[in-house]
Amino acid sequence: MPKIYLLDVTNRDGVQTARLGLSKLEKTMANIYLNEIGVFQSEFGFPTTKHETRYLRANIELAEMGVLKPIRLGGWIRAIAEDVETTFKRVPTIKHLNLSISTSDQMIMGKFQGKKTHQDIINDMTAAVDAAWAAGAESLGVNAEDASRTDLDYLVEFGLAAKEHKATRLRYCDTLGYDNPFTIYKTNKALAERVGLPIEQHCHGDLGMAVANSLAGAKGTIDGGQDAYINTTINGIGERAGNADLVTVILAVTKSKDFAGKYQLGGKVDLSKAWKIAKFAEYAFDVPIPINQPGVGANAFAHESGIHADGVLKDPENYELYGFEELGRGDPIKVDTGREITAGQYSGISGFSHVMGQIEVSFDSKEKANEVLELVRYANVLSHKPLVEDELLFIARYPEIAKKLLTSTPLEI
Ligand SMILES: [Zn+2]
Repeated sequence: MPKIYLLDVTNRDGVQTARLGLSKLEKTMANIYLNEIGVFQSEFGFPTTKHETRYLRANIELAEMGVLKPIRLGGWIRAIAEDVETTFKRVPTIKHLNLSISTSDQMIMGKFQGKKTHQDIINDMTAAVDAAWAAGAESLGVNAEDASRTDLDYLVEFGLAAKEHKATRLRYCDTLGYDNPFTIYKTNKALAERVGLPIEQHCHGDLGMAVANSLAGAKGTIDGGQDAYINTTINGIGERAGNADLVTVILAVTKSKDFAGKYQLGGKVDLSKAWKIAKFAEYAFDVPIPINQPGVGANAFAHESGIHADGVLKDPENYELYGFEELGRGDPIKVDTGREITAGQYSGISGFSHVMGQIEVSFDSKEKANEVLELVRYANVLSHKPLVEDELLFIARYPEIAKKLLTSTPLEI
């Protein structure tokens, strides 16, 4: 039976969100956490954007070193040959891409202003796919932007053209969050049956149904005989009302009625990393997790009213669908209420050594400690907040990679 895979787009859709962003080190940490939780692929950035080049190359290096493994790192570009050319010039070793082009009449008229016909869209996409294969890509997803407002027969034609050119997957983008579970089930089932490619569900929350639509689309795809790839973001951060939240999607697939056990996640997903990844994203994006967020919200396991409290104390299953331990919750958090030394851009070696000593890192020499401190200062210049333990450990472990992530001079390519 086909399976459901997770393709997280935090480092693409999440960071392109208005008012929000991540430093290149934070994006790298997100990739590390996504790998730990068992996400199949991270859409890790924009290969045609100059300031991403060093970050993308450094993360591919981490993959080659085995640090980011088995996760796949996929770039997002427009489905035009020119973008493919720029991509492989800037990031020659990139292996996975999603190529995106709008397919709806609304976009063809409203965005391309009638300058492209339906056939032009297909021609652009297939030319880009051919160019990416020729340049050395190993997997290619083709994105139909605004698919939910696209005529189904045309979408099938678009998908079949992608398949003819050996595309690996078709991304069904509900770009505006227009679908509901009933419509996306039908469309994704039809696409799986008629196109015969694995389908990605890329859902937005403009009508509050991103997770529900992702599940319904995945079910349709599997019922149509193909693997499904749900696009998620950490804490649901994404354009406007956001994307399908990673942790909620995992919970919904594994715990919901008549879904669990039938429609299974492919690969190993480790839900116990949920708390860690959600808290990191909260800190890095500087966007609080809503109190009622499934699984990781402050109230997700809180009970106060008499009947509920009594019931949950007698048997947690009375009022909890799953246990907090499963999500990696329950450990006490140590919060200093007295003297604190943090690591920042003006830190000196004494304070820095104290901070590193607390997380049990020692250096072979004073030079080595100074080298790492210098990098920590730069990281703080870019993120404007004290570095978290895992970031400090990362820099201490991989100073050469950190140097690349912290360099932001434009490359001459
Ligand atoms: Zn999106």
